[in-house]
Amino acid sequence: MTKKPTIRLVLGDQLNALHSWFRQPRDDVHIIMMEIRQETDYVHHHAQKIIAIFAGMRDFARQLTEAGHQVHYLTIDDPANLQSLPANLDQLILHYHAKAFEYQEPDEWRLDRQLADYVQQQSIACQMVDSEHFYTRREEAAELFGGRKKWLMEHFYRQMRIKHGVLLEADGKPVGGQWNYDHDNRKSWPGLPSEPADGRVTHDHSTLWETIEAAGVQSFGRPNAAQFPWPLNRSEALQQLDGFIADALPYFGQFQDAMSSKAWRLFHSMLSFALNTKMLVPAEVVAKAVAAWRAEAVPLAAAEGFIRQILGWREYVRGMYWTHMPNYAAQNVFAHERPLPIWFWTGQTNMRCLSLAITQSLEQAHAHHIQRLMVIGNFALLAGLNPVEVHHWYLGIYIDAFEWVELPNTLGMSQFADGGLLATKPYVSSAAYIDRMSDYCKGCYYDKKLRVGERACPYNALYWDFFARNEKQLGSNPRLGMVYQQLRKMEVTAYNAMQAQAADSLDRLDTL
Ligand code: FAD
Repeated sequence: MTKKPTIRLVLGDQLNALHSWFRQPRDDVHIIMMEIRQETDYVHHHAQKIIAIFAGMRDFARQLTEAGHQVHYLTIDDPANLQSLPANLDQLILHYHAKAFEYQEPDEWRLDRQLADYVQQQSIACQMVDSEHFYTRREEAAELFGGRKKWLMEHFYRQMRIKHGVLLEADGKPVGGQWNYDHDNRKSWPGLPSEPADGRVTHDHSTLWETIEAAGVQSFGRPNAAQFPWPLNRSEALQQLDGFIADALPYFGQFQDAMSSKAWRLFHSMLSFALNTKMLVPAEVVAKAVAAWRAEAVPLAAAEGFIRQILGWREYVRGMYWTHMPNYAAQNVFAHERPLPIWFWTGQTNMRCLSLAITQSLEQAHAHHIQRLMVIGNFALLAGLNPVEVHHWYLGIYIDAFEWVELPNTLGMSQFADGGLLATKPYVSSAAYIDRMSDYCKGCYYDKKLRVGERACPYNALYWDFFARNEKQLGSNPRLGMVYQQLRKMEVTAYNAMQAQAADSLDRLDTL
């Protein structure tokens, strides 16, 4: 009698070719992968996100099969596909007479719960194993912060540098004498150096896109299927990483917060999709940045700034997510309830910054951090948009959006809906900041300098109105002392005009 096999599940964001599961093919193991409606439909997704994940999964399965692994792959249009994780698992466990079921630690709470509930009902041996991707365990940030009320990212980041020996002198001090070179960064971009060419390999995924559409999957945004720019596998992701280190990393720090209508990628890595689907391991990305600095190919401020995003922010938000889920998603400290304006789905607004950032997101399934935070998120918070709707929009539109990283960034950092667990003050600004960091205000219908009047930039009155209406929650925040001082000094007529202007904007959000 043949030995009963083990079923091993690989999810769409677990394309980790370096995982120990794949060191050697085993004839008593079947790898299971599935394209399911459960995953395409839990939120309204950008077309590129669905294509990129399915294409990556298909290529991963192909490579495993070529290496001798036994892979059972269910495509979205397979008549045997029951379109839900538990239903397909039930069917396959029965089909193979499996003696055991194993899965890698999911990153999303939703899937973690579903699989935990599933294994509870099984009579065969079940096991969850490490995904062998992150620097930290799910609980590690909470352990590190202990009972501290404030979870400062900088504290976490330094501990990570020490623990993993990154950019450290032999005596344990930070190289160059500082932990953080942010003060060298934050410049606007004058047009030079030029934005590096987009070196991403493209693919024709038209047939896959037709299959997805024919299966009835709903989506939005430009599919760009014929010239699809997101990496298919680890080797393409590594190529993209090397290109970034050579051409863009030297300028990454300086222009990290810059925005331009002429250069949508600027000096960003565009690696978040490859990282979040685990085509790349964060430690190898960090090691390459360190090596480039040691070889004097990039300045320390650039390497450190980039490494902080990965070793610091990325692991920190994951810790925040696992500590506070499931209740985190329901937080709404300002009780914001306004629905998203219609132009979140079209980009058609007279506010040029928002029109450019949203149109780019619809076209590319990507916007860089400051566009997400200080243009789109900034407006959403000032306008009091419902944070759950905002969260679902971000979760759907961006190629790299998986809830463990998207939710703390959106609900916490960007919307301050958690009351300041993640950010020490709300990330909001008037038009002045957007104008300083970009060329977006030039040629805008609205005037960045005006606070009231038909042509006044809506950010300006909304900015002051936000602080005025939320004084109860924010008035005692020591980082906002200056803002409230200015607000209190505002002349009564100016104050009333500002409030009337803000009320008018809020009344007609769809037509701004
Ligand atoms: P780069 O600027 O080149 O940065 C390098 C890498 O650092 C990124 O690939 C990413 O892995 C990591 N990183 C940078 N900033 C952060 C951060 N704040 N949190 C976690 N990792 C970070 N990032 C996602 O990966 N998925 C999301 O769904 C997501 N949603 C966001 C929503 C909002 C409202 C905001 C403000 C930020 C969000 N971010 C998200 C963080 C950040 O904007 C993206 O990681 C980044 O824009 C991806 O582009 P890039 O690869 O070119 O990044």
